Amino acid sequence: MTRTASHSVSTSLDRLRAEIERRNPAEPEFHQAAREVLQTLAPVLEARPEYAEPGLVERLVEPERQIIFRVPWQDDKGRVHVNRGFRVEFNSALGPYKGGLRFHRSVNLGIIKFLGFEQIFKNALTGLGIGGGKGGSDFDPQGRSDAEVMRFCQSFMTELYRHIGEYTDIPAGDIGVGAREIGYLFGQYRRITNRWEGGVLTGKAAGWGGSLIRPEATGYGNVLFAEAMLRARGEDLEGQTAVVSGSGNVAIHTIEKLAALGANPVTCSDSSGYVVDEKGIDVQLLRQVKEVERERVSAYAERRGGSARFVPGGRVWEVPADVALPSATQNELNAADAAALIRNGVKAVSEGANMPATPEAVDLFQEAGVAFGPGKAANAGGVAVSALEMTQNASRTSWKAERVEAELARIMTDIYTTCAETADRYGAPGDYVTGANIAGFERVADAMLAQGLI
Ligand code: NDP
Repeated sequence: MTRTASHSVSTSLDRLRAEIERRNPAEPEFHQAAREVLQTLAPVLEARPEYAEPGLVERLVEPERQIIFRVPWQDDKGRVHVNRGFRVEFNSALGPYKGGLRFHRSVNLGIIKFLGFEQIFKNALTGLGIGGGKGGSDFDPQGRSDAEVMRFCQSFMTELYRHIGEYTDIPAGDIGVGAREIGYLFGQYRRITNRWEGGVLTGKAAGWGGSLIRPEATGYGNVLFAEAMLRARGEDLEGQTAVVSGSGNVAIHTIEKLAALGANPVTCSDSSGYVVDEKGIDVQLLRQVKEVERERVSAYAERRGGSARFVPGGRVWEVPADVALPSATQNELNAADAAALIRNGVKAVSEGANMPATPEAVDLFQEAGVAFGPGKAANAGGVAVSALEMTQNASRTSWKAERVEAELARIMTDIYTTCAETADRYGAPGDYVTGANIAGFERVADAMLAQGLI
């Protein structure tokens, strides 16, 4: 490629970045996710001129469909609440739209678009036939009774059902949406449509169409990705101290797998602060506190006694560790946090959450030679096992846990290898961000080119 061509590729990417900001005002998370991908694509657009065709990348950053709807519901005292529901069907070149639903008070269109955009590349990296989408609501489940959560889910599905289906769009869980919510959503879908369509939602309970190991898959997969990065440097997780943020589905299973592989996970957190436990987090106690009692993490420290303390409002990244696995939410690890981790000798950072490290933090890790696993590769185990759940539903079988876990391990190894090899191929060895973005992009772009201008 000539210097002129390379200049023209970067100019057109710059122009596209500006255009995305102009056309999608007040959506900073979506701008951030798009910028992060676009800034790594220049080498592939230069090497493969067919991808630089006018309109391909422009189509990729524009969702195929965006649905916004009203969700009215009544609380236990009879008061009416009105929330907003979203489903962004971003790209279906590789398969039906697939991605979770997030229920959190911070949800808005820009957040759902950033998550849906990331999901396109993540799903492509799994090698399974799934497109990218995401949805959710600004409903806040915290402090709500089961009956209130059920009424909300029923109202949400009363609109969403017309947009989804096993060959169209298959939602799953995310922040605030776990097995309880998926159950209520599935029940309402079944009632409205009169169809027992198992493959319309994933994350179902194992007794009625769910896959074993689906709850564990995101956290387990992320730990496998972290271990693969360490192995490339001649190390493993045995004896390493790990910091984990969050205390939900992803964090709990990350902690469980770290301990199983001989590491010492010493922290967990929620939005009120963090817990540090020198003896290692007791995952059974954490489960009891968070999943059964739906309590705050401070309750863990109170019950655990001596070895654990709760640090209100603190940042988990100030705890010295060899490995860090952010597993709560976007932009939870900033430049100051990255500097603290680097000062304390961190060797690897692997993203269980979606976009938890800010761009400045990622730059600092990469400059310091810390192995950095981006969420779209490192946390893809969850959606991969969701796709295996769809396979089981389609064939009306259910696989043993060992079989699902072996498939998960194989998929995570493939994703790691794909990212590493792609990074090498484009002259950026060890840069898993570039590797993940380009490998995901190539798969989606090939399918889009083959399917014509749609
Ligand atoms: P959960 O709802 O189960 O847990 C979320 C956890 O993060 C809670 O402990 C929550 O605490 C905490 N949290 C949220 N916001 C903050 C904050 N600002 N500061 C500190 N803690 C916070 O969600 P998941 O575990 O399912 O999801 C966690 C992350 O992983 C998300 O980024 C999600 O998109 C991503 N992910 C999830 C997948 C899955 O399979 N579930 C798949 C791939 C990615 P609090 O209760 O105080 O809000």
